[in-house]
Amino acid sequence: MMSQRQTRVLAIANQKGGVGKTTTAVNLAASLAHLDKRILLVDLDPQANATMGAGIDKAKLEHTIYTLLIGESAIEQAVMVSESGGFDVLPANRDLAGAEVELVDAEAREMRLKSALASLIGKYDFVILDCPPALNLLTLNGLVAADAVMIPMQCEYYALEGLSDLVNTLKRVKQNLNRKIEIEGLLRTMFDPRSTLAQQVSDQLVRHFTSKLYHTVIPRNVRLAEAPSYGRPILSYDKGSKGAIAYLQLAEELLARHNPAQSVQPV
Ligand code: ATP
Ligand code: MG
Repeated sequence: MMSQRQTRVLAIANQKGGVGKTTTAVNLAASLAHLDKRILLVDLDPQANATMGAGIDKAKLEHTIYTLLIGESAIEQAVMVSESGGFDVLPANRDLAGAEVELVDAEAREMRLKSALASLIGKYDFVILDCPPALNLLTLNGLVAADAVMIPMQCEYYALEGLSDLVNTLKRVKQNLNRKIEIEGLLRTMFDPRSTLAQQVSDQLVRHFTSKLYHTVIPRNVRLAEAPSYGRPILSYDKGSKGAIAYLQLAEELLARHNPAQSVQPV
């Protein structure tokens, strides 16, 4: 009999494209699994990059997050295992792009994911939601289901520009749909320490967001970009790489934040 766990649902969101959401979702999932946590990775993006990055062939799926959201699959049918990642996956494929239209008249259409996941609460330590690059119905479903949001950001000139839209969306969600939602943290991704601009933007983030900013910084590392084409998280592809070390450190920082005692306990 499996013991009950305190499940934390974490949405990885930023409506800006290509900032490292999927890379973070897949590699944080694998890193937490490596630290003996039970993890479910949910792919909320029709691009299905998280699905492929976890080693699951999106072309061969009968049950997906899409069939689950429209009520054609049961959750037990849709959950798969990432062998390379050591975690479970609710996979996606292109069909998910149709969900927005098909759910347009559905009752409580922004609550679909939350309802679908309800029976899994207690089974995992973390449920990680990889959101698409838009503030659309799929992201909204993610924000309604989540306890908190992690926001990956690239330290470049326009990084802060889109942030206020996301923060406003979060405020509305908190008021109307999900009172408990909070910002878990902002994560600096693809960081190049030799870039003066990256340093300046990073300093700006430190000033504005102090406690909400993770100490861990994810460096630009080509191994992180290569790993998905092998269907592997970085820990399985090159565990000694800078990228692998950074995502493990992020997982440890996340765990320490929620259980401060853990980091000082003798082993
Ligand atoms: P989208 O908005 O399209 O969903 P995303 O925010 O999920 O994008 P990713 O797909 O994770 O972003 O990353 C965008 C690209 O940058 C990918 O090709 C990825 O492999 C690469 N990448 C992500 N993080 C890093 C990194 N730290 N170092 C080098 N390349 C990276
Ligand atoms: Mg993505």
